[in-house]
Amino acid sequence: MSQVSDRSGLPIKVLIPKLPTASAIAPYLGRIDASRVYSNYGPLSREFSASLSELTGAAGVTLTCNGTAAIELALRAKCRSEGGVCIMPAFTFIASAHAVCNAGLVPFLVEVDPNTLMVTPEIAEAALRQLDTPPAAVLVVSAFGASPDFDGWMAFEAKHGIPVVFDAAAAVTSVSDRIGAQPVCVSLHATKVLGIGEGGAILSADADFIEYATAMTGFGFLGSERSSAIRGGNYRISEYAAAVGLAALEALPTRLERLRSLIEAYATRLKNKEARLQPGAGHEWITMTLNVILPEDSVVSTLDRLAAAGVEWRRWWGLGCHRHPAFANVPRADLSATNSLANCVIGLPFHEDLSVADIDRVVACLP
Ligand SMILES: *Cc1c(COP(=O)(O)O)cnc(C)c1O
Repeated sequence: MSQVSDRSGLPIKVLIPKLPTASAIAPYLGRIDASRVYSNYGPLSREFSASLSELTGAAGVTLTCNGTAAIELALRAKCRSEGGVCIMPAFTFIASAHAVCNAGLVPFLVEVDPNTLMVTPEIAEAALRQLDTPPAAVLVVSAFGASPDFDGWMAFEAKHGIPVVFDAAAAVTSVSDRIGAQPVCVSLHATKVLGIGEGGAILSADADFIEYATAMTGFGFLGSERSSAIRGGNYRISEYAAAVGLAALEALPTRLERLRSLIEAYATRLKNKEARLQPGAGHEWITMTLNVILPEDSVVSTLDRLAAAGVEWRRWWGLGCHRHPAFANVPRADLSATNSLANCVIGLPFHEDLSVADIDRVVACLP
């Protein structure tokens, strides 16, 4: 019996995460019961790691306990000695700034390109001219899952000799076959496209780097010696997390197709509107945090209309890292473009349970 429910009066949620069900995870849990291996790079972790390598085309994968830890470890492994400045965009999720500081670096906040919402090699080069000493690294952030300019950043590193690390937290499904030696850090948080609850990974084609980063996740034990060769910590995932990951990968193709069609439904309805999606959203890459970029003078009235229509929205990245009290004093370039842009980037309802009627109701509020 089919049931048609009228949801027209109910609020539309901005995000409803969805992870594999208990029954989808159960067969993998049975394997843990049989193996009696619960962590320490066990069979499920190794299988999950190999599957991520296949999914992303990355030759090497280091699994981590979350995406923030992946960024922190990649920076520590790339910079090798503590201290120095890390150029990073002010417009990013605040996790990026925490990771940079936890890696012993000082963030130097810069602008993003107003079209792609990402830092460019040109913006980083302008920052180089403002700094007295060369920075220890550049952290490039994928905007909500968009693929960064990998070729441009490879050329930047080759030209300036400054390591580049990617915070591609939301981009695990949009970096396919683009991954070179520069580390690409992804998040497997419940709110990301491939969610396992908490988890992350560093992807790279550099086998030595991946061996080093993986050793950092397990107390710096290199090879089979139980002797700390390098400084690290415990950043591993358990076999239970890997079980969820393997189940999540099974469901991923269907999920991506559903998300793609929902982005398309938004895109079609936005064709003759001023509100625009990020370039490539839906056809080049998939996200769980779908944003519109509004004209500055219609932000306030649009947010009023969304509230009146019972439509939840969110500024996923707030107004920039420098607007958070914990990072109010970090050094920065001129951020006037970010200050106006961040205000205009509004996260719309986006999850698998959205109906076409829901999307009509959201889009009716947009300029
Ligand atoms: C989600 C996200 C992170 C943090 O990932 P966690 O797994 O939650 O630690 C970092 N940077 C960006 C841009 C993100 O979107």
